[in-house]
Amino acid sequence: MENVQGKVIAITGASSGIGEAIARHLASLGAKVVLGARRVDNLATISAAIQANGGEAIYRSLDVTQPSDVASFAAWAKSQFGTLDVFINNAGLMPLSMINSYKVEEWHRMIDVNIKGVLHGIAAALPLFEAKDSGQFVNITSVGDRWVGPSSTVYSATKFAVRAISDGLRQEVSSNIRVTLVAPGATESELAESISDPDLKKMAINMFRKDVIPGLAIAKAVAFAIAQPADVDVNEIVVRPTAQKSF
Ligand code: NDP
Repeated sequence: MENVQGKVIAITGASSGIGEAIARHLASLGAKVVLGARRVDNLATISAAIQANGGEAIYRSLDVTQPSDVASFAAWAKSQFGTLDVFINNAGLMPLSMINSYKVEEWHRMIDVNIKGVLHGIAAALPLFEAKDSGQFVNITSVGDRWVGPSSTVYSATKFAVRAISDGLRQEVSSNIRVTLVAPGATESELAESISDPDLKKMAINMFRKDVIPGLAIAKAVAFAIAQPADVDVNEIVVRPTAQKSF
């Protein structure tokens, strides 16, 4: 695909779900993908499958809550392939719960991964983009970046934050650096596994069984944004199942 082929694209949270689908799809379009996550066994399997299909993929362990780890990840991508063109902030978790369950540790983890992790990604890749005055961030939020309901309060807050960060970043950086936000609705992945409340987990898994789209649907939206000419910045894309009408 034009403007995707040959690009060096780093993806956080590439060990399952949407990140895995993005990695596989972009590699199939000729991108050189750099996969990061904590479950390196998964990354090894996914990278091997990409390579077996003739694609280019490398991987390394990554914890987005650690700024120095994210900086090393971005620098390593550049050192392996000579440049870094796109940084995809995808890692996230969604332990839904009602506020009065007081799952404070889960609130902290969501803030650490979903917000601070994205900021760490920006701090890691922006200097590399600024040095060559080009590059693109793709931040994966959620339809929860513009909607909040019972049990999604903290999760939605983290995604509202990433939407604000993406908007602000776009205005602060050079006119040659692109910032894209992709907001998925219910998509096949392991996301519901992070819910510790048994009733909410059951509800989420039932919903995920009924009306979900494959990760490839999100990956195609990401590819569309990357494929545009350098002077076109697709700011936001919302992709959800046809049957998911509101949130
Ligand atoms: P998954 O649970 O399948 O994937 C989450 C990914 O995040 C995994 O690869 C996981 O890797 C990674 N991750 C979690 N914590 C860390 C960490 N500390 N450091 C590095 N990586 C981490 O869920 P999805 O694919 O659904 O989630 C991807 C993104 O999509 C998230 O931001 C989520 O909020 C968003 N999203 C998903 C929707 C859906 O319906 N699936 C809907 C809306 C948004 P590992 O555990 O190996 O570190």
